[in-house]
Amino acid sequence: MTIPFYDLSDGHREIREAIDAVVATVVDGGHLILGPQLEAFEAEFAAFCEARYCVGVSDGLSALTLALKALDVGVGDEVIVPTNTFIATWLAVSATGATPVGAEPDPITLNIDPSRIEAAITSRTRCIIPVHLYGQPADMGSINAIAARHGLAVLEDSAQAHGATIAGRPVGGLGTIGAFSFYPTKNLGALGDGGAVVTNDEHLARRLRLLRNYGSTVKYRHEILGVNSRLDELQAAVLRVKLRRLPAWNHQRQHLASYYSHLLANSRHVKRPSVAQGVESVWHLYVVRVPKGRDRLIEHLRINGVQTLVHYPCPPHRQAAYASLALPEGAFPLAEALAAEVMSLPFWPQMPHAFAKTVTEAIATFDE
Ligand SMILES: *Cc1c(COP(=O)(O)O)cnc(C)c1O
Repeated sequence: MTIPFYDLSDGHREIREAIDAVVATVVDGGHLILGPQLEAFEAEFAAFCEARYCVGVSDGLSALTLALKALDVGVGDEVIVPTNTFIATWLAVSATGATPVGAEPDPITLNIDPSRIEAAITSRTRCIIPVHLYGQPADMGSINAIAARHGLAVLEDSAQAHGATIAGRPVGGLGTIGAFSFYPTKNLGALGDGGAVVTNDEHLARRLRLLRNYGSTVKYRHEILGVNSRLDELQAAVLRVKLRRLPAWNHQRQHLASYYSHLLANSRHVKRPSVAQGVESVWHLYVVRVPKGRDRLIEHLRINGVQTLVHYPCPPHRQAAYASLALPEGAFPLAEALAAEVMSLPFWPQMPHAFAKTVTEAIATFDE
């Protein structure tokens, strides 16, 4: 038997009839772009995030990029980003012409370490992008306080954390602006690409509506230089169905994470993930650390029918794409060490708990 890393079909089976029904509604309605499904989804997702406005866009990278453009970030500006993140966080900054400036993670939560942000601020800094990595909220209280002291915007990269909370308040609306991805495997995923930006700022919301649609809200009147980055009606309709299931699915993720953590309490081989006080993770991924022999453990698990992944094997600053930043090996030692130690275990809301037992038993038979 093989235990896959992820199985999307379990979730889709639960909502298959509802999906078929809304697809029929959209097809029969004949309105495929910027219509009633998107408007309804934006209202529902804004409410879910406890934010005033939501603007649907084509994907998560566009959500981040357009959020920065709405904030007027561009050439000559610097934006502080985590060194331990998916490269999209950095690419969004680069797409505006601004420069990403890395800040290392807290070694316990693996999220951006607020105490390292201030040292990275210069006269060119315009914005901080905390990422709620693996579903765990970053320390927004400290980050917002630093931003306020320095007059900076805060863009929450919430692509992995739909529904995660700090003191009971959901991420996305806790800073100046928040970006989400609806890539199929995210906690809330479309049947293809999708994304959204949420904010409580009416001016930013209006700018985003222009930016995503050729700089236009009235046909053939173009106020600013926009792009085509819309969330289509079919995806919005599917996302509305899935949004209703999201709290239950996040709950199942939390249960599964607790079970894994129980099973791995005395593991010789792996260190379990830690969640900070006062925050609720929605466990996009269950990421353990393997201080010794990570790659050999991955191979051992593969031979034993357990699929794992690494999020992420190479930090953005060490990618060929960022050679121009000339950040050598050792520039961000914490992110580099994590890239060599992390391993994500099979994880999806409907995963049978017996699979977690099999996975952890296979880990226990690893002989370093
Ligand atoms: C998935 C992801 C993105 C990008 O989302 P896409 O929809 O794939 O463009 C951005 N940031 C983080 C942290 C992500 O995990």
